[in-house]
Amino acid sequence: MKTAVVTGASRGIGAAIAVAMAKNGYNVILGYKENKEKCENLAKVLIEGYGIAAFAVKADVSVSKEADALIDVAYKNFGRIDVLVNNAGIAGFKLFTEISDEEWNDMIGTNLTGVFNCSRAAAKYMVSAHSGSIINISSMWGQVGASCEVHYSAAKAGVIGLTQALAKELAPSNVRVNCICPGVIKTDMLQSIDDETIDSLIEETPIGRIGTPKDIADSVAFLCSDASSFITGQVLGVNGGFVI
Ligand code: NAP
Repeated sequence: MKTAVVTGASRGIGAAIAVAMAKNGYNVILGYKENKEKCENLAKVLIEGYGIAAFAVKADVSVSKEADALIDVAYKNFGRIDVLVNNAGIAGFKLFTEISDEEWNDMIGTNLTGVFNCSRAAAKYMVSAHSGSIINISSMWGQVGASCEVHYSAAKAGVIGLTQALAKELAPSNVRVNCICPGVIKTDMLQSIDDETIDSLIEETPIGRIGTPKDIADSVAFLCSDASSFITGQVLGVNGGFVI
């Protein structure tokens, strides 16, 4: 049975990805940082609903030892890692000159170094199995930049670069690496944005709505399926036409 590791699976986009993977018959390891109960409840729902094995593992992806442990737990339990979805992330809105060292380091640590840590840990298993798929969740702001989100945009642009370089390095080992750049998606991450701003973001989205976590999960399911076996190193915008 195939195994998927999804970071940031306690809520939002990561939770929807975990559901999609379980629905497709994968055993799922759900990574979280703080929301133990939520993540464990979701694992229970997946086991009962889809007859797969699933469990929640606490791991701060910005800490390489914790990322290593997350991947090793998956391998020890299931003997294989077929899919890694690097989804865990944080957001931040700050004037550029007011971003502190700590905020910069947190943002890069979680959103970029976290992808490096988990991918490095998983790649060794995938390369030796000569099979695997890594999917990184970047952002449309990593493609075009967002005002007052320089640290977020820089980290997400880094994820695109990491995806492209790693795809070239791992393709000969039959490991694919792709990246999804979501547009505005309704999750806790939007909590600090007022209704007026959300309305104007909807207006700016040609398709006329904001996205759902399932919109992203459906694209992840495609990118780790055999239907995408000739696709690697690509950056897929799932943004309702916001960035074209
Ligand atoms: P969310 O609802 O805020 O959930 C974030 C998830 O990441 C949670 O599961 C959280 O775990 C986990 N997390 C945060 N820091 C972590 C760390 N250091 N180590 C491990 N896990 C950590 O966010 P979301 O909207 O679903 O976003 C998911 C991904 O999509 C992020 O990479 C985000 O940048 C990207 N994205 C989102 C949007 C959007 O509009 N929502 C748009 C573009 C890109 P806990 O619950 O345990 O804290």
